[in-house]
Amino acid sequence: MPRCVPCERDFQDEVALNQHQMYSLNHKNKPARQIRSQKPANEGIPKDYNSTDGYARRTQARPRPSYDSAPHSVQPEVPKYICGHCDSNFKSKRDLEQHSCNTRKGGFSGSESLTQHESTQIEHKFPCAFCYPPCGRKFETLEALDIHSRAVEEKNEMNIARRTKNKWSIIQETPEAIEKLRTMIHSKELLEKSGYKLEPLTEESISDQRKCVNCHEKRFKSRARLNTTCRFHPKKPTKKFNRSTGDREILFPCCGQLEGPDCEKCVVNDQHIYEDFDTFAEKLTFVKTPAPLPGIQKRRAVALDCEMGTSYTNSSELIQLSVVDYFTGESLIDMLVRPKVQLRSFNTRYSGVTREMMAQAIATGEYLNGVEGARNELWKWIDSTTILIGHSLHCDLRELRLAHPLIVDSLLCVPKINASGNGLKTLMKELLGQKVQDSKSGHDCVEDALASRELVIWCIQNEDLVAERAIISQREEEIRRQEREANNILKEERLRLKLEQEQFDGGLESSNSSSAPIPRVGEIMEHDFSYMRDEYYSQGSNSW
Ligand SMILES: [Zn+2]
Ligand SMILES: [Zn+2]
Ligand SMILES: [Zn+2]
Ligand SMILES: [Zn+2]
Ligand SMILES: [Zn+2]
Ligand SMILES: [Zn+2]
Repeated sequence: MPRCVPCERDFQDEVALNQHQMYSLNHKNKPARQIRSQKPANEGIPKDYNSTDGYARRTQARPRPSYDSAPHSVQPEVPKYICGHCDSNFKSKRDLEQHSCNTRKGGFSGSESLTQHESTQIEHKFPCAFCYPPCGRKFETLEALDIHSRAVEEKNEMNIARRTKNKWSIIQETPEAIEKLRTMIHSKELLEKSGYKLEPLTEESISDQRKCVNCHEKRFKSRARLNTTCRFHPKKPTKKFNRSTGDREILFPCCGQLEGPDCEKCVVNDQHIYEDFDTFAEKLTFVKTPAPLPGIQKRRAVALDCEMGTSYTNSSELIQLSVVDYFTGESLIDMLVRPKVQLRSFNTRYSGVTREMMAQAIATGEYLNGVEGARNELWKWIDSTTILIGHSLHCDLRELRLAHPLIVDSLLCVPKINASGNGLKTLMKELLGQKVQDSKSGHDCVEDALASRELVIWCIQNEDLVAERAIISQREEEIRRQEREANNILKEERLRLKLEQEQFDGGLESSNSSSAPIPRVGEIMEHDFSYMRDEYYSQGSNSW
């Protein structure tokens, strides 16, 4: 009989155990390992709800009133007999009455006392009536509900402030507008070139990316060379000052050899030792956005932005997720994400998130649980047919470890203004004359998502300008390429001349005879190509 270890309860089959573990609030934040039985814990549970994340479960385990603009997510079959006290669920009333409720000392022995306990308990659960779209959360105490409602109120006020600060466009969600946006979707080639992961990596290719902890060579390189022998210096090289020669030299303390072509690695192992797969794979394990469910229309296009902190091992960690609807600009998600590891820095200057904000979010339960929790929240609004919009969105998707096919990246859409200023702030100022990211307390994640959305809207509304500018950029790039090529030819020519000169000088010394003069190095001047550019601009391009 499968057993739930923390509850010390036996279940008649895996399905019952899984249901218990899914719906019982008792298991909130308990590691999956602790409550997993022999078989994988996802049997008999609808896939979307196969999550150990407490937040997702809180908001989805029970049916809630359907609102028109809320995502029409499928509700899992709700168990009929739920204990109002410990949230365990049962197939029959008899099972419910007989279970020993371990959230209360001594439990309830008879059905009578349990029924009484239940009726008072259910009354004392306070449902949230503040959130739109509804969060579906229920609170044990009025204080908890109050904290939640204040957090919601604060967010609403922030949204009003954002709305009045900048003029964000609102787009009618017409078939034409959807089609227009669709034309902006980038090709697979461009996305891959720009750093997007469109398909999850295979386990083998993740494994191949691992480095040997000794020689630091990546696994696929060693394998390509059929090189199984690992040669390395166990100690890092140090810089030393050589008194006799007066030179600075780099020395391996392990064997005393100088760094250089003659240096031989002093330790030889017959195999490489690779980084731990599970730890390494975590950051590279991308998940695909789920395909649409029949009859359910999620958002057609959303803009998103993430903020990141830094862990003690210097890995980048997701700490905030903001998602707005592309058409209405409505804020769909604006939540802090609680990382699985301790953070060294919240990068507050950029992220706008402070340690105190995170502590507050954790204390009140207003957070998403790790990358998985953030993805699950996102999937309430999007499926694989949703167009995702963002500025350098591959960075955000890398943090979410999400492989998504339909991307409109505002950085790839907008014309290049100059090499140094393609950030949201510069582009918004130059193209739209709007100020964003001007707060001293760091970025506002929702504002970033709105700004990226606004840039895409601007590009759609200024198609001709963008196309014209793209042609200019292309020509400029062509001129630069020609310049580079011509300069390379010059360099080669100079080198050839220099060698000839040396040979000639050597010949002079030995034979002392004269011959025709060869131009000296430097006589060929670097060519000035700027006239090509001037010529181009004099043709006139008024719009820029
Ligand atoms: Zn249990
Ligand atoms: Zn109970
Ligand atoms: Zn709520
Ligand atoms: Zn050595
Ligand atoms: Zn090695
Ligand atoms: Zn941001």
